[in-house]
Amino acid sequence: MNLTVHQVERIKELLNQGRHNILILTHRNPDGDAIGASLALYNLFLKMGHIVDVLIPNKLPDFLKWMKHADSIHIYSNKQKKSIELIKNATLIFALDFNDISRIDDFKSHVVDSNAYKILIDHHPDPGDHADLIISQTAVSSTAELVYSFIQLMSLTEYIDTDIAECIYCGIMTDTGCFSFNSSYPETFQSVAELMNYGIKKDKIYDLVYDNFSYNRMRLMGYCLDKKMKHIKDYHTAYISLSQKELKDYNFKTGDSEGFVNLPLSIEGVQFSALFIEKKNMVKVSLRSKGDFAVNTIAAEYFNGGGHENASGGESYDSLEKTVDKFVNLLPKFKNDLLGA
Ligand code: 5GP
Ligand code: MN
Repeated sequence: MNLTVHQVERIKELLNQGRHNILILTHRNPDGDAIGASLALYNLFLKMGHIVDVLIPNKLPDFLKWMKHADSIHIYSNKQKKSIELIKNATLIFALDFNDISRIDDFKSHVVDSNAYKILIDHHPDPGDHADLIISQTAVSSTAELVYSFIQLMSLTEYIDTDIAECIYCGIMTDTGCFSFNSSYPETFQSVAELMNYGIKKDKIYDLVYDNFSYNRMRLMGYCLDKKMKHIKDYHTAYISLSQKELKDYNFKTGDSEGFVNLPLSIEGVQFSALFIEKKNMVKVSLRSKGDFAVNTIAAEYFNGGGHENASGGESYDSLEKTVDKFVNLLPKFKNDLLGA
C-alpha cells in the first residue's frame, strides 16, 4: 500500500483518538465492490465505537442487501436534507471505489466544501485530487481488497468478524467476476484464504449475489440475447441496447441488467461488448473488453465516462438510437486494435 510510515501513524492516531463522525461515500449505481468495501469499513468503525454512516447517490440493488447493516445506508436521492447534514457533520470522510468525483455528482459540492479529513481508497486509474490522502492501486482486484489491506496496515484486524469478512469477500468476488478477471495476483487469493478463516460461507455468498434474481430479469435476459444482441463479427464486437419501453415491459428494477454487458463476450471471437440502457435523462453506457483492447479511453473520449481498461462506463446525452449509431460508427477507428486483440 502506497503509504508512508508517517501517513500510517497519522491515520492510526486519527482512528484511535476519540470518537469520530465518519462518513463513507461510494459511487452512483453501486456494485458489489462499492457496497462490500463500504459496509466492511462501516461495520469495523462501528465496532471501534465511532459514529459512522454510509451515503450513496442512488439505490443499491436488492442482491446486495444481505450484507450486514445494508439497511442503514443513506440514499441521497431519498433524503437530501439529512444527507447534507451528514456531510456537514463528518470529521473524517472515506471515499471508496471511485476515481472521478463526478460519480457522486449529486452531493459532490457538499463534499468538496467539507472540512473533514478525506481519504480515498480506490483501484481505478487516474484518481482525482479530491482527497487529503489518496490510496490508489490499480493493480489490486477491488476496493474491498484494498480495504482489507488498509485494515491490516492500521492494525485493526482484531475487529474483523464473519460479517465484515463477508462484505470484503463479496467485493473481491464481484469485481473479479468470480475470479475470472482482475485476479492474476497471488495476493488476491492470499486475502481470500485469510477471509475464509473468519468463517465466511463463500457458496452462500455466491448464491445470494448470483442466484437471487427476479423472474423478470431472467426473461429480460432471454429477450436481450434473442432479440437485442447485435453481433458485428468483422469487428469482433457485440452489443445490446434497451429502451425505456422495453424496460417497462419487463418491469425493470435496479440491478436487473447487472452483468448483461458481459454476455456478448461469451461469443467466440468477441473482444468488445457494450450495453446501452435508456434512462430518463441520458443513456447509460457500459463497455467491456478482453485482452489488450482498452475501453476506458473510449468511455472517456466518447461517452463522458471512464473506468478500468477492460470494464468502463459512461453516459450519453444523445438519444438511444444516436448513441448506438455513434458506437457502431466508432468501430472502424479501432479496427487494427480490435482485430489484433
Ligand atoms: P458499469 O459498466 O458496471 O456501470 O461500470 C464499469 C466501470 O466503469 C465502473 O467500475 C467504473 O469504473 C466505470 N464507470 C461506469 N460508469 C461511469 C461513469 O459514468 N463515469 C466514469 N468516470 N466511470 C464510470
Ligand atoms: Mn471496484
